[in-house]
Amino acid sequence: MEKTALTDNFNRHLEYLRISVTDRCNLRCIYCVPKGIVPKVPHDDIMRYEEILKVVKIGVAAGIRKVRVTGGEPLVRKGIGSFLKKLGEVDGLTDISLTTNGYLLEKNVDMIKDTGIQRINVSLDTLDRDKFAYITGYDVFDKVWRGIMKAHASGLSPIKINVVALKGHNDQELVKMARLSLEYPFHIRFIEYMPIGNSRMHAGDSILAPEIRKQIEALGKLMPVEKNQMDGPAERFRFEGAPGEIGFICPMSRHFCAACNRLRLTADGHIRPCLLSDRMVDIKGPMRAGCSDDDVADIFKKAVGYKQDAHHFSGDPAFKVTDQMSGIGG
Ligand code: SAM
Repeated sequence: MEKTALTDNFNRHLEYLRISVTDRCNLRCIYCVPKGIVPKVPHDDIMRYEEILKVVKIGVAAGIRKVRVTGGEPLVRKGIGSFLKKLGEVDGLTDISLTTNGYLLEKNVDMIKDTGIQRINVSLDTLDRDKFAYITGYDVFDKVWRGIMKAHASGLSPIKINVVALKGHNDQELVKMARLSLEYPFHIRFIEYMPIGNSRMHAGDSILAPEIRKQIEALGKLMPVEKNQMDGPAERFRFEGAPGEIGFICPMSRHFCAACNRLRLTADGHIRPCLLSDRMVDIKGPMRAGCSDDDVADIFKKAVGYKQDAHHFSGDPAFKVTDQMSGIGG
């Protein structure tokens, strides 16, 4: 691949920007949202849509090709439909996707299709209604499932289901979740819990991918699926004859830093080079002070310069990541 302005010191081409459009969420997942009252980023400190679009256009000129819209919960932000549409009109982007908790999916499937987005990720950690209510704080499993079914019927594909594996919460259900890949063309992606921010879980609550794999292979042997260039960090597999896939995302057991192609734009306007490090560069402040497009491009480059060869996060308190996942976007 050719070098771009966003090729880092370790020759990784950072072409993927994950955009958190809000820190607000309509669920309170135990592994993501802290206990008690969560301080909200003041409205004025959230990046405006036109600012995000400007960052994306300058990013594309520098080498960004792919974006994911996330949050908080992106579907709670007012005007998200017209923003996604405008994002779809940015020349040079080859892939736009959305991560949602599914709460508002049913009523937004048509809007999502209308923007041209083809691929969505829906977070769903359990198929048990009571457990869902416990994990997310809201008894809305049926609503989320209806949203997934409507998205499926509408032809959105692939639908990826993000499952954070949590000791003591959904560890008895991993096989059931994996079985969805035998019934639907969904990509079931098991994610190792990352003990960051101030969540209500503990470092020891992660279930690592080898253990998940061992459990779900009760359903049959997993066969590797060849990766393609647009793939993220998931290691991909399939059960024989399955319409769907299984993926493992292993930030803890086998980090994928060497292949990392990501930058993140946080809801409050910082470029974050690594999910698992709090070091960031402010982009909103300089933009609001009237900096030029070249200055914005330089901020991207500065963030790229901060990208380390690998994260040093192990769950050890000495390497704490204090920012909340909801503001970073996952
Ligand atoms: N609200 C949307 C959702 O729930 O999908 C988007 C934001 S959420 C922060 C993005 C992803 O991060 C979700 O799939 C969620 O399960 C995952 N996530 C959040 N906290 C996590 C943690 N501590 N470890 C691993 N994954 C986490």
